[in-house]
Amino acid sequence: MKIHEYQAKQILQKFGVKIPQGEVTHSPKQAQKIAEKIGPKVVVKAQIHAGGRGKGGGVKLAENPNQAENLASQIIGMNLVTHQTGPEGKKVKRVLVEEALDIDRELYIGIVIDRALETPVIMASSEGGVEIEKVAAETPELIFKEYVNPATGFLGYQARKLAFKLGLKGDTFKQALQFFQGLYQAFCSSDASLAEINPLLITKQGDVIALDAKMNFDDNALKRHPDILDMRDLDEEEPIEVEASKYNLSYIKLDGNVGCMVNGAGLAMATMDIIMHSGGMPANFLDVGGGVSEEAVKNAFRILVSDKDVKAALVNIFGGIVRCDLVANGIVNAAKELDIKIPMVVRLEGTNVEKGKKILEESGLSFQAASSMKEAAETVVPLAKQ
Ligand code: ADP
Ligand code: MG
Repeated sequence: MKIHEYQAKQILQKFGVKIPQGEVTHSPKQAQKIAEKIGPKVVVKAQIHAGGRGKGGGVKLAENPNQAENLASQIIGMNLVTHQTGPEGKKVKRVLVEEALDIDRELYIGIVIDRALETPVIMASSEGGVEIEKVAAETPELIFKEYVNPATGFLGYQARKLAFKLGLKGDTFKQALQFFQGLYQAFCSSDASLAEINPLLITKQGDVIALDAKMNFDDNALKRHPDILDMRDLDEEEPIEVEASKYNLSYIKLDGNVGCMVNGAGLAMATMDIIMHSGGMPANFLDVGGGVSEEAVKNAFRILVSDKDVKAALVNIFGGIVRCDLVANGIVNAAKELDIKIPMVVRLEGTNVEKGKKILEESGLSFQAASSMKEAAETVVPLAKQ
């Protein structure tokens, strides 16, 4: 799960990480009031779940409260396109109005899990600001890494090593150590999968402050963090994926036109591959799961056909834990209830497959049966193209 910059900053602050003063709002008038309180000079920052906002025109400096109101009214409602949003962009609903700080240096610090080493890795760079991806690609030697042994935690000497390599001195050096430890505590305590501060600001006064903040969380751990789950912003997510998550269905929208309903992630991947191999493009990844109920099949179908890009559907179910007759009943009931117009190809295999096929045949609905994955894909792809 992703959250907004202002929310990440709220979390970090609880762990002693210094952040600029600021407040979030969806009203330009309120932006002016905030600027009067914390300004006069403020930065108005679009809150969307994507980086690169500065370059895309979503982060602007206001010299006074009136200008803050003006800028907020330009930014709120704008369709912000950045290198992370894709060409369609994201609509801005809220802005963070923040005190404008005096920048001396813009550094970088980020924490992720190194999957190969199975430990958190802390990465720091003196080349912070807007294009850390470029630094990583072109001058990787300018990114310093410290791997953390989960048993010992992030040790003092590791923090000092990073601060030293960033060229920090005196009180700034000390502040940085506290900052790094706070960031690491925030990362671990909230089961984050990413915590990234870019830029890590060194002010003209020598203070160390998180000027930007990004945190992502492990979805499987969110149960333990109701306060973080409350930060979820459904406006930022694909509506159809939100709907599917209500029923515990894994659904990912893709660019093609062949809707797929499959059980098991492996079979779902193989199904997408064979659709591509047959010259088509899947419209989604949909895993209805192992011990799926008839109700879940019905919901999956409803969600699948609600996508206007889906021109034909391929149901590919292996009845291992789930029985084919149960799936067949779910499909027939859904098709009747939803009055499905698109052509459907169904391939069932496994437990109770004969029963399942019989239910489909006797339903009076026009499913095309296929007995192999290849046949199913070769049937559905031309149907989607018609
Ligand atoms: P993004 O990474 O999405 O472009 P940032 O929050 O990193 O957004 O902002 C982009 C740039 O804007 C920063 O690198 C910094 O130079 C400037 N900036 C952001 N917030 C402030 C602030 N409170 N005071 C001064 N400058 C800021
Ligand atoms: Mg940034």
